[in-house]
Amino acid sequence: MIKEILQIGNPILTTKTTKVTDINSVETKSLIKDLIDTCEKNADISAGLALPQIGVSKSICVCRRVDLEEKDPDKEIDKEELWEVLINPHLLNSSSDNSTEWEACLSIGVGKDNLWGPVERPKKITVEYTSPDGSQKQLKADGYFSHVVQHEIDHLNGILFVSYINNPANIWRLEDLNAYIESNESYPEIQ
Ligand SMILES: [Zn+2]
Repeated sequence: MIKEILQIGNPILTTKTTKVTDINSVETKSLIKDLIDTCEKNADISAGLALPQIGVSKSICVCRRVDLEEKDPDKEIDKEELWEVLINPHLLNSSSDNSTEWEACLSIGVGKDNLWGPVERPKKITVEYTSPDGSQKQLKADGYFSHVVQHEIDHLNGILFVSYINNPANIWRLEDLNAYIESNESYPEIQ
């Protein structure tokens, strides 16, 4: 079912989630389906979604495999492969070298008022998580995909990406950012 997405200011978004213990329950399967349905509806503007964003304070998020899309842009990726479902994920390790990517969040502004900003994070990470079939897995992520995974895991810990942006001058409305990029052919310089 497509769910409504909570907006910043709702305390659920800044609350650490609880671990999921009933991996195989009907409720968990239904929550995962809701996450994917809601994500797909917003697929043109979103690369992931976490349960607190649809009002449930439990540790599940979905991340779009933007790395697979980047690697082979012409290949049609099926739904199960496109959305990586991470249950109770945590970072096993992260690189000391960082990368900066422009991020946005479905919970921070709607439509042309969706807010964007540059976020610096570890470039490479390894994540340990439970997959929907109950098995323990590890996922390596690099570059933009690494940002997507870290952004979604942050949601499970009650952290929103804007908390990493020290200077509000770096936060842009989508409409203004698009206009800037169109006339300058680059992202704005970071202040
Ligand atoms: Zn987000």
